[in-house]
Amino acid sequence: QRRFFVGGNWKMNGNKESLEELMSTLNTASLHEDTEVVCAAPSIYLDFARSGLDSRISVAAQNCYKVAKGAFTGEISPAMIKDCGADWVILGHSERRHVFGENDELIGQKVAHALESDLGVIACIGEKLEEREAGTTEEVIFAQTQVIAENVMDWEKVVLAYEPVWAIGTGKTATPEQAQEVHERLRAWFRANISEEVSDSLRIIYGGSVTAANCSELASQTDVDGFLVGGASLKPEFIDIINARA
Ligand code: 13P
Repeated sequence: QRRFFVGGNWKMNGNKESLEELMSTLNTASLHEDTEVVCAAPSIYLDFARSGLDSRISVAAQNCYKVAKGAFTGEISPAMIKDCGADWVILGHSERRHVFGENDELIGQKVAHALESDLGVIACIGEKLEEREAGTTEEVIFAQTQVIAENVMDWEKVVLAYEPVWAIGTGKTATPEQAQEVHERLRAWFRANISEEVSDSLRIIYGGSVTAANCSELASQTDVDGFLVGGASLKPEFIDIINARA
């Protein structure tokens, strides 16, 4: 069975004081043992997050570059992320795609290099509102998934995050039915294009305005294996989301 996975994406939020408080709230909370918990800190706070969070919680970076080192001012490598004690990286987040103009090719190269460097990858996909309204959701997310898949040899260290762009930071959560429908089709895509084994074992998590109030119903959907949480991951309600699966 797929282990429930809940990631908190802090994005570009917090400072040492507020993050310290958040981390001590998480450290003293009772967390469902069967749930894998990861907090994605701003890169400058990776070390701080790793030393501040207890060992039940893994740390992720929110992005990285596609090579190990060199003259790439402002970038960080998977090797550096690992050196700070983090085990995961988020790649292909919609904000990287749409605010910073990252394309599928670059995201694919990053996925390949992060996995070669032995980091776990939370790979993000999702359609924009106009794409959903035009009926092209499947086409868009399958194309994004295809490029990611071309760069993955071993799926064990990959979690796929479906984050519809219209649901991110908007308060417009996908309904449990909408999330389940897309997750089910993604799983079918993996069965058809990768393997039955990967289709059965890959965790497909949902992101986009997840809160303590809507997480239980989403978590009860057959193909929803966890969440990637933005705003609510900075609040104590993140604990309820971690514990969403009964
Ligand atoms: P919100 O939970 O704030 O909508 O953000 C979702 C997200 O982008 C997580 O990566």
